[in-house]
Order: sequence, then structure tokens, then C-alpha cells
Amino acid sequence: MLQSSQVDQGALSAFPLTVPTYKFGLEQERYQSIETKAIKRGTTLSELLQSFDADPDVTANLQASALRSLDATRLVAERPYTIFTRRGETIPDFVVYEPNGYEQLVFDFTKGNSYVRAEEVTTQLLHGEGVVNSNLWNSVTDQGYSAKLALGVQRAIESAISLRSLSKGDDFEMIYERKLVSGEDKGVGRVKAVRLRHNKRDVIAIHFERPEDGINGYYNLAGENMSSGFLLSPVPGARISSAYNLRRFHPVLKRRKPHYGTDYAAPRNTPIVAVADGKVIQVSRTRGNGKFVKIKHDDTYTTQYLHMNKHVKGMRVGDWVNQGQTIGYVGSTGLATGPHVCFRFWKNGKQVNHLNQELPMGKPLPEHLIEEYFQERDTMLELLEYDYDAVLDGHATKEEVDSTKV
Ligand SMILES: [Zn+2]
Repeated sequence: MLQSSQVDQGALSAFPLTVPTYKFGLEQERYQSIETKAIKRGTTLSELLQSFDADPDVTANLQASALRSLDATRLVAERPYTIFTRRGETIPDFVVYEPNGYEQLVFDFTKGNSYVRAEEVTTQLLHGEGVVNSNLWNSVTDQGYSAKLALGVQRAIESAISLRSLSKGDDFEMIYERKLVSGEDKGVGRVKAVRLRHNKRDVIAIHFERPEDGINGYYNLAGENMSSGFLLSPVPGARISSAYNLRRFHPVLKRRKPHYGTDYAAPRNTPIVAVADGKVIQVSRTRGNGKFVKIKHDDTYTTQYLHMNKHVKGMRVGDWVNQGQTIGYVGSTGLATGPHVCFRFWKNGKQVNHLNQELPMGKPLPEHLIEEYFQERDTMLELLEYDYDAVLDGHATKEEVDSTKV
């Protein structure tokens, strides 16, 4: 096994050296105003972009291109962003957001495009391992690793295995990035690979990213996307207070009325998240539904979230949302006895019980990237000292090894 030490080191794309008159690669003299502000807690990408009152098409293009490089549309509170505005203009030419200490997301309002700009960053790949005692989170953080790393490890495998099913003695290995700028530790980057052994089976998740193709996620040994295209609940961890039931007795109306949704009870103002990527098609309020948001995911699936206390500020019809993005907060507006979300799931225009559906998996790797993915996979398996062929020959069928379901 590898020790917790540096196993590889390579510089990310290096950008030209900056001279004092440049900031983030932009020539400072061209701007009358260069103003730096801090992101307010809870601000979404869409809110930030809309706040500059640019042409809505430009804003939409900026948002779409930025979503390829951002992990979440929720921006990191207190991180700086800098606004570059020319003399006589009200709309900036550039806005530069710094989500961390080593890269910047540059929004070019003149072109409606965004790009990531990195300092001269060195990325180290590090190896870590552990044994589950109480839960996976603790077995990562108990070793002194950061919460960010623990979260990264969980995210890598949570779609393939229920974190609650892990038991004492399960062991794991991880390959993760550490970012350095001028030799200074700027923290953990991505989790690149995880191997988790549970019930004598290995679950392996390999990170693969090709922003230009909209690919960024974890894949199994066969190259299949490991994450579902849909989350099972719009309020992760909330209890189902009333299931989808076509013969339900309605607690407020006191009569039989089909319940076309699944109710998730949670304290008022608990965040409600979009269960899949999609486009907001309704932000509205009715007497029965209260405040609600409706999202169209594709030609087949649409979801609706009822009884919100409020939706996220600035959310509008036409906004794109990502899976897991907060869209509103639990409430009891409309016909509701207490705070909950009534989650409605539409398939081909009909409301169905989403828990009975075979939902599509996340976006598959496009054909032209599969070979590249396999190369990445093999590099990671080497770092994990994982002998794929020996496993195939000795212990399991290819299907078993490839299967990420445990
Ligand atoms: Zn309901």
C-alpha cells in the first residue's frame, strides 16, 4: 500500500506571468472602476449575474458557461468578486469571482462567456486510507483530514452505496488533490478516486471531467456514470410524512382525495433542492398549492415543489438549476397542516410515484471520451495499487467488478 505521501506532481495549465498593471489578466488602466466586494451568504450564481442588469441573453449565456466549471450554483459566502467597469458604462466588462485561493472564474460580459483562470497552481495527488469504525465521515475526519475531504469522499460514492449500510471494518482508500500556489498549501482540491470495500466487494469511483463536453462526475470501472440523474428526495434526510396514495383521506379537506405527491416533513425554512438539472417553468402561488416552483428536466420528467415558505430570492422562470441546488424553503403555504414539501413528480404529463420509477442515471460518457476515461481510470487504479486484471481472473466476474451497486 502507498503511504500518505506525494505520489505525483504536475503543474496545471500555467498562465502568463502577470505584471503590476494587470489584475486577473485584465489591464487595469482600461477601467475607471475596479471594485472588490464579498459574496453575501446564500447568494446564487444567477442572483449575482442578474445584479449587473446586463442583457438577459448575456446573463443566461454567462450562467450556462459558468455552470460547466462551478461545483454548485450557490456561491461561497465571503469570497471576493471584483467588478471591472469602463468609463461611462454602467454594466461591467468583467466580473471576477474567486471561489478559492488558487483560481478565478472570469465572467466576460462583453462576450457572454466565462472562463477559469488559475494562478500557477501545483497539484499534488495524495493517497489516504482508513477503516470505518462508526461512519465514513468520522473515519476520514478522525485522521485529521478536513471536512471538505470527507464530503468529497462521500459524494464520490453515495449514489453507488448507501452510506448508512456501511459497517465497522469496511475499509477505503482515496486519491485526492492538494493545491499549492508558490509552494503554499491552498487546501484540498477534488477527490479523484475512491475504493471502498464493503461486504467483500469493492466500490470504485473515478472522477472524470471534460468541461467542454459538460462532463464532470464519478464513473465506475465500466465507465458508467455513478450518480443518478435524480435525487430521491428534495429535502435530503427528511422524513416522508405522507406517501403518494390515490385513496388518501385528506387531513384538511376531511374527504377522500388522491394524493399525487410525496410529502416530506421538515422544519420551516429547511432548504428544498432541485432533484435534477432542469429549467424553471413556474414560480407561482395558488390557494391549494401555496408557493411553489416547477422544473422541467427533459421531455419526459417535470417536478414540482409545493407549500414553500418562500422560493430562493431572484429565482425566475427560465432559470437553469442544477441537481442539488436550493430552490426554496420548507413552509406551510396553501392547504397544509404543518411545514412540509409536497413533492410532485410528472412523467409524460402524468403525476406518478417517483419512488416506484426506474429513474434515468446521470449523463453517460459520450462515445468519444470513453478511451480517455479508461486511461484516467487505469492511472487511478495504479495509484490505488488496484490490480484490475487479478480481480477479474481470481475473484469475481467482470460484471461483479463493474457493478457499483452493493
Ligand atoms: Zn402532498
